Amino acid sequence: MQPIEQACYWLARLPEREVASLSAPAEADIVVVGGGLTGLWTALFLKELDPGRDVAVVEQGIAAYGASGRNAGMLSETVDHSHALAIQHFGLEEARRLAALGERNVAELTAFIAERGIACDYEPTGRLMVALTAAQLEEARHSVAIARNLGVDSWRFLEGPAVRAEVHSPLYRGGVAVAGGGILDPAKLTDGLRREAERLGVRVFERTTVASLATAGSGVELRANGTTLRARRAVLATSAYTHHLLPQVLWRFIPLYDYVLVSEPLTAAQWELIGWKGRQGITDGRTFFNYYRPTADGRVLWGTSEATYYPGNTVGPQCDHSPHHYESLRRSWRLHFPNLADLEWPYAWGGAICSTTRMTPYFGRAMNDRVCYGLGYTGHGLGTTRLAGRILAHMALDRASDLLDLPLVRRRPFPYPPEPVRTWAVNQVTRALRRVDAGHPPSLLLRLLDKFGIGFSS
Ligand SMILES: Cc1cc2nc3c(=O)[nH]c(=O)nc-3n(C[C@H](O)[C@H](O)[C@H](O)COP(=O)(O)OP(=O)(O)OC[C@H]3O[C@@H](n4cnc5c(N)ncnc54)[C@H](O)[C@@H]3O)c2cc1C
Repeated sequence: MQPIEQACYWLARLPEREVASLSAPAEADIVVVGGGLTGLWTALFLKELDPGRDVAVVEQGIAAYGASGRNAGMLSETVDHSHALAIQHFGLEEARRLAALGERNVAELTAFIAERGIACDYEPTGRLMVALTAAQLEEARHSVAIARNLGVDSWRFLEGPAVRAEVHSPLYRGGVAVAGGGILDPAKLTDGLRREAERLGVRVFERTTVASLATAGSGVELRANGTTLRARRAVLATSAYTHHLLPQVLWRFIPLYDYVLVSEPLTAAQWELIGWKGRQGITDGRTFFNYYRPTADGRVLWGTSEATYYPGNTVGPQCDHSPHHYESLRRSWRLHFPNLADLEWPYAWGGAICSTTRMTPYFGRAMNDRVCYGLGYTGHGLGTTRLAGRILAHMALDRASDLLDLPLVRRRPFPYPPEPVRTWAVNQVTRALRRVDAGHPPSLLLRLLDKFGIGFSS
C-alpha cells in the first residue's frame, strides 16, 4: 500500500518544498499543535487579534497531513451536523443562531480566500442531498421545512425526476438542493492558510511530532524531535489524535476513519452519460452515506462515511488503507452509476475524523487553563474549523467573544464509555444503524440512544 503522500490525490499534487522542523530548544508565546485547518485558522485569528503575538505551529507531518488534506473538499454551511440535531441538543433559538453562524462563516471563508489569493479551486456549486428510499424522501421533505423554520431559505426540495435530471443515477428518488457552499481542493486550502500564517510571522515547524506536553514554570513545555518548545499557552488542534497528548479527552470523543477513492479523468462522453453539469458535492440520506464530487481536472471523488472505529482508539498510518472499504466503495459506485461501472480508481486512502455523542464539536481547557482544545467536527469540519479557530484564539488570549457564550462551546457532550465497552458498543450501534440504512425501522437501542441525544455517525 502506498504512503499517504502518494495515495491521497490532494496530497500527491502539492508541490515539493523545504520544510522547517524543530531542531533546537525554542520558545513562543502561544504554540498551536496541529497544522490542519483548526490549527492554522487558530494561528491566523491569533495574529488578527494581536498581530505582535509570537505564535508557533507544530505539525508531525506537513501542514494538511491529517484530515484537512485528505477530505472530500465539500464545503457546507453546516456547523451542527443537521438542523434537527441542533434543535434537539440546543433548542430552537440556538439552532437558528447556529444556522445563521454557519452561513456567515462560509461567506467569510470564501471572501478570505479570494482576498488573500489562496488558490484552492473553489467552485460555489452548492450541494445536493439525495434520497435513496421512501423514508429518506420523507426526511428530505421534512428537512426543508425545518431549515425554513430556522430562517434558512437556501434549501429546496426536489422530486425524483428533478434530481435525476441533475445527475443521472437510477437510485435517486428525490432530494434537497442547497444553494450555499461548494467544492474545493482541501490540501491547497490548508497549505494556502499555512503560507498566509507564515507571511504574518507565524513560525510553522513541520515534521515535528510532539511526544509530550506538560506544565513548566508558569507555562507549558512540549517535547519534540528530541528537544523542547516552551510557551505560555498551548492550543491543541490535533483532532482525532488529541488523546495521544491529553488522554482524558477520550471521554468526550471517538476517533473514526472515512475512506475515499478518486477516479481517472472521465472523458467528455462519460460526463455526458452522468450529467452532473452543476458539479455539486452530493451526499445521500443514510447514516453511513456516500459522498462524492467532481475534481477540477474532471475526475470523481467517491467516499464513504463508514465511520470505522479501530479498537483501542487507534489512529495512525496503519489505518490509512482498508482494501475492504475500497472494494465496498467500488461496489456502491457500480450500483449508483451502472453506465460507468468500469471506471478505474488510481487513488485510494483514508483519514481520521472525530465525533462526539452530539456530533458537534466541543471545546475545553486543561493543565490549569494553560492548554485549550477544540475537536469533534465529524465529517463536516471544512467550514466549522474556521469558527473553531476563532473560538480557540479567543480562548488562548482570554478575550471575550459572543462565540464563547454558545452552548456548543460552554456545554460538554455526553461521554462515551471507555474500552473495552467502547468497541462492543460501537459494534452494536453500527449494526443497528446499518439495518436502518437498509430500510428497517430503528431498533429499541437506537430509539433509546436518540432519547438521550446520543448519536454515532461521521
Ligand atoms: C476522508 C474524509 C473526508 C472528509 N470530507 C469532508 C468534507 O467533504 N467536508 C467537510 O466539511 N469535512 C470533511 N471531512 C472532515 C474534515 O476533514 C475535518 O473535520 C477537518 O479537516 C478537521 O481539521 P483539524 O485541523 O481539526 O484536524 P486535522 O486536519 O486532522 O489536523 C490535526 C493535525 O494534528 C497533527 N498532529 C496530531 N498529533 C500531533 C502531535 N503529537 N504532534 C504534532 N502534530 C500532531 C496531525 O498530523 C494533523 O495534521 C472529511 C474527513 C475525512 C477523513
